Amino acid sequence: MAGLLEGKRGLIMGVANERSIAWGIARAVAAEGAELAFTYQGEAFGKRVEPLAASVGADLLVDVDVTDDASLDNAFGVLADRWGQLDFLVHAIAFSSKDELTGRFIDTSRGNFKTSLEISCFSFIDIARRARPIMREGSTLLTLTYGGSNRVTPFYNVMGVAKAALESSVRYLANDLGPEGIRVNAISPGPMKTLAGAAIGGARKTYRHTEANAPLRANATLEAIGGTAVWLVSDWGACTTGEVVMVDGGYHVLGMPQSENI
Ligand code: NAD
Repeated sequence: MAGLLEGKRGLIMGVANERSIAWGIARAVAAEGAELAFTYQGEAFGKRVEPLAASVGADLLVDVDVTDDASLDNAFGVLADRWGQLDFLVHAIAFSSKDELTGRFIDTSRGNFKTSLEISCFSFIDIARRARPIMREGSTLLTLTYGGSNRVTPFYNVMGVAKAALESSVRYLANDLGPEGIRVNAISPGPMKTLAGAAIGGARKTYRHTEANAPLRANATLEAIGGTAVWLVSDWGACTTGEVVMVDGGYHVLGMPQSENI
């Protein structure tokens, strides 16, 4: 039986290792028949991404730093030459200085504010504009966010502001690209044990707290996030755009911790 994504080509941006959310998505969409290309940030990550990409039959890998225009020009040039057309793109990229993912939000520095917003939010807008010429009706842009965008989460600090800007960008991009039949959505998982996740102060506590209190009494899994991505980039997601889809065991519906945890 043909997979749900047979004949579709997707670019996955943001795999650092096998625990990356982008890798969970890559595995799930590849299992449904999608053909994939990957970007990685620098040689060291490239060495880790290469065998993962090979395991899902991908040999198109490009080094991209989203703060470097030349590397983005090169990546979209290579894609246009090799594929000519892109059906979906996954942006799973964020950064903030570890020094400011602890302590108080009020101490955010100008420099790290700019860097965090540039890498974690502007890059999605920039990438959407670059990808658009090779995307056709029915294609999808997908990014990753976190519920710290609209509720205070200890130590998430400036990343919360960056994710709020990213979620707003999803809505504006969805409106710009909707007339061309291009959809734009975000997946918002609960806390995950990844490299980026571990950089946030008190990460283990946040992970345990979410697991103990979410209605499903469970954290998100790479498989569940991947499955949500399959839906959103497939034709079954045809009427969903500008949306932030929560994959957090239902944690976001709570007004207070479960009574057994108070
Ligand atoms: P990860 O560390 O595996 O992935 C982060 C990726 O961002 C890495 O591949 C890194 O190379 C890339 N990156 C950072 N700066 C870059 C730059 N300048 N140029 C190119 N790439 C750059 O961690 P992850 O948790 O899988 O993060 C993926 C996305 O999921 C992020 O947007 C993150 O905010 C989001 N998210 C994470 C969690 C969590 O708890 N881990 C929860 C919700 C959302």
